[in-house]
Amino acid sequence: MPDHYTIDLRHYLDEKTGEIPPLPAPAMTIALFCGAVVAWVSGWPGSDGELTNVPCRRSRSRSPCYGDVYARLTVGDAIVFRCQACGEQGTISGWRGTRWDRSA
Ligand SMILES: [Zn+2]
Repeated sequence: MPDHYTIDLRHYLDEKTGEIPPLPAPAMTIALFCGAVVAWVSGWPGSDGELTNVPCRRSRSRSPCYGDVYARLTVGDAIVFRCQACGEQGTISGWRGTRWDRSA
């Protein structure tokens, strides 16, 4: 059963600076992965289920996935992503106005 993450990107950022504060490694990995997905999707508006340049970050039993990740913007302004290889998927909200938002 693939995992499904629901991530509010703001929860991973320092409220004042908008930067990533010192985080435990797993949280840091998620923040950087989601930031990269947000940068790709917000920089390529209108793309639908587009292949991103972001490799999967999933690691299970010490064997990383590195599968192709597809992502798109939903009607509700969230970004959904899915790894083609392992099926891991998630929803990213709270990305507008973050340092990775390239839509402006
Ligand atoms: Zn994967």
